[in-house]
Amino acid sequence: MKIVIIGAGFGGMACAIWLAEAGHEVELYEQAPQLRTSGNGVLLLPNGTGLLSDLGVELSGLGARMDSVDGLYHDGSLSLRVQLSKIAAKFGSPVLVGSRGLIVERMAACLLDGSLRLNMRCTGIEQNGDGPVRVTFADGSEVKADLVIGADGQRSVVRTKLFGEDPAVYLGDATWHGITELPGAFAEGHAVHSIFGNEGICVMHPVGDGKVYWAFELPFDDGDILPPGAPGDTASLKEPGSAVANLRARFGQWTAPGLRNLLDAMKDEDVSVFPHIIHRELPQWGEGPITLVGDAAHVVPPRVGMGLSQALEDAWVLSRALAGGGRDPIARVRAYEQVRIKRVRGMQKAARALGRKTVPAPPWLLRAFGRLLPVTKLNMAQVRGSSNYLNNDLPEEVA
Ligand SMILES: Cc1cc2nc3c(=O)[nH]c(=O)nc-3n(C[C@H](O)[C@H](O)[C@H](O)COP(=O)(O)OP(=O)(O)OC[C@H]3O[C@@H](n4cnc5c(N)ncnc54)[C@H](O)[C@@H]3O)c2cc1C
Repeated sequence: MKIVIIGAGFGGMACAIWLAEAGHEVELYEQAPQLRTSGNGVLLLPNGTGLLSDLGVELSGLGARMDSVDGLYHDGSLSLRVQLSKIAAKFGSPVLVGSRGLIVERMAACLLDGSLRLNMRCTGIEQNGDGPVRVTFADGSEVKADLVIGADGQRSVVRTKLFGEDPAVYLGDATWHGITELPGAFAEGHAVHSIFGNEGICVMHPVGDGKVYWAFELPFDDGDILPPGAPGDTASLKEPGSAVANLRARFGQWTAPGLRNLLDAMKDEDVSVFPHIIHRELPQWGEGPITLVGDAAHVVPPRVGMGLSQALEDAWVLSRALAGGGRDPIARVRAYEQVRIKRVRGMQKAARALGRKTVPAPPWLLRAFGRLLPVTKLNMAQVRGSSNYLNNDLPEEVA
């Protein structure tokens, strides 16, 4: 079958690798002149690391192993600890904070030669009756395909073609994030620090080589700054003045270990900003020979730390659904959507609950939460629940 994939992010590249391995003729179209290897760190849970290994991506040197997420109050007192090492042991695959750029490079190296076409912005998709799908590009060229996969991210052209204008909505928080050199023990350690206070949340991930990947999450008034209809428009999401100065003013009173040094070491050029947005939950992700994977189908705020792994999960199920014989391919694509939608729903619910405006929680509540609830087990259940891969949950006829 000839398959055209729009967007060479994590979801698109994973589809291209696995579908080519299954013997399909695959073309992968990316709007950018080159693959984006810049960017920050990313947390990879055992489904993410397992799926990357399955793709042929070498995990060694990809990032730092994480053994725990320590929930701290702003004064540094420990409220709760999620033991990631137990979750990794349970599923037999590590938890890493990896470099996005390195993951992109290693995945790109697994693509079949000649399958990636850069500088190709998809502008339209048409399908009449039972004929092939016609895909058009900004340079005036077009291709025909038996199946089109929209892996074109949160502002997907393919999603708009399928379901009309239906942008992700802003939840009222934004993340300011970056990587900064912070020599010392923390950067070489294996614990994520998630620090809470009335001003927001700061997450610090050691990434080795004396560096820390950090993210500050705080309520941010969209007002005139993030115009309605422009979710993800980071250029418009700027506070007046220096981002670092604003973060220092807001979080400078916190005394959790390492935070003061981080605020001192950060530079404005390290900082990117991302609004927390979420898509409406769709009952299906496609129609006829057109479907979606990854953020095009289900963007969620970064707070759940699962978007990348979920894009890989989509690609894994879709490529397995299309690898087998049996029913016609379109029925298999619909079956892919349904088994994934069931798993993604839980992540979307968690993201809605966690992703709305940061609510200040008093320290006693956080401590009680950490003491009374089996947080590691709950986290393990959430990872398992969101994963088709860890459950070998595939459409019936390919399972
Ligand atoms: C601040 C932040 C932190 C995050 N942290 C984590 C984390 O810790 N763990 C985790 O698992 N996930 C995390 N995520 C989420 C994760 O990055 C995304 O969910 C993931 O990148 C989605 O992959 P994708 O392939 O679906 O889309 P994308 O990575 O967005 O790729 C889409 C691709 O399509 C291309 N494209 C778009 N339109 C067109 C077009 N018209 N024609 C051709 N090409 C097009 C784009 O250029 C891009 O290359 C985070 C996200 C953010 C913003």
